[in-house]
Amino acid sequence: MADVTLTADGHARLLRDGNELPLLGLGVWQVHPGQETETAVRWALELGYRHIDTAQGYGNEESVGKALLDSGLPRDEVFITTKFHPGSKDPEAEAEHSLRRLGLDRVDLYLVHWPQDGPTWMWPGMERAHERGFARSIGVSNFDVAELDAVLAQAGVQPAVNQVQFSPFKHRRALLEACAQRQVVLEAYSPLTTGGNLGDERLAQIAERNERTPAQVLLRWAVQRGIPVIPKSTRRERIEENAQIFDFTLSDADMEALDGLDETGGTAHAIERPWWRRWIRAVR
Ligand code: NDP
Repeated sequence: MADVTLTADGHARLLRDGNELPLLGLGVWQVHPGQETETAVRWALELGYRHIDTAQGYGNEESVGKALLDSGLPRDEVFITTKFHPGSKDPEAEAEHSLRRLGLDRVDLYLVHWPQDGPTWMWPGMERAHERGFARSIGVSNFDVAELDAVLAQAGVQPAVNQVQFSPFKHRRALLEACAQRQVVLEAYSPLTTGGNLGDERLAQIAERNERTPAQVLLRWAVQRGIPVIPKSTRRERIEENAQIFDFTLSDADMEALDGLDETGGTAHAIERPWWRRWIRAVR
């Protein structure tokens, strides 16, 4: 595995452009705009999260921005990601719209949400958004290796991040390796398998052995390798639980056992069933 560079406190990953991506963030997909998002983000910020992952398609950027403002935290202390919805045409214009909704003058990371209608057409617009200072870092999401290479081949500003579905059950080992070789940080979405595998018996045994919860074990497995995670929860006690992952270490044997839960065959693919090919307007 290629080098993973963390900040001195070990809690953030250094990106190729020098920016720092906190290893833990709160994801807000499927969190209702208004009270639900504002409360979840407020709790997360109170509990020490300094990274929020939203998207134009989630419909809750305004609520994320309100919670951030209400927190009183200095803007520089919180890392905000949003994503360009590729059903729209112009990433630069859409970034401005996002900033208006968020009430910010820049985001920290702006991602192409998925490679709809090809991987490269949106990149010049992403670069313009970066040049105009709307986003400190730019990157992609749900991109396979070939799609990433197509962007890298034409890019002036290279993508810093590829956000993909990643967990022990979706251990896309070849994609992780390919991203590392290209100095693109793989960021894990659905790190708790959207809840689907949290009841797995093998996972439960590892959790019990470590006196931790299954969710903490899944998140620790990733951050122990320097992979950023963005678990979603709307419950305060779970938001707190999911942040308690920097005070224990999984043994090599446990890491290997978790690796063994992979259902993808160590694939280089970003996703098995690209939803954007079937449902153009689907949002994730
Ligand atoms: P996660 O893998 O984070 O799992 C969330 C589910 O697990 C929810 O049902 C939540 O329920 C439950 N949960 C959370 N914490 C715990 C816990 N400690 N114990 C038990 N259950 C728990 O799901 P997501 O698929 O939402 O992924 C996380 C984030 O990744 C998204 O919110 C989004 O920001 C990003 N994402 C990006 C995509 C992309 O295309 N770029 C696609 C999908 C996700 P509850 O809320 O009730 O606690």
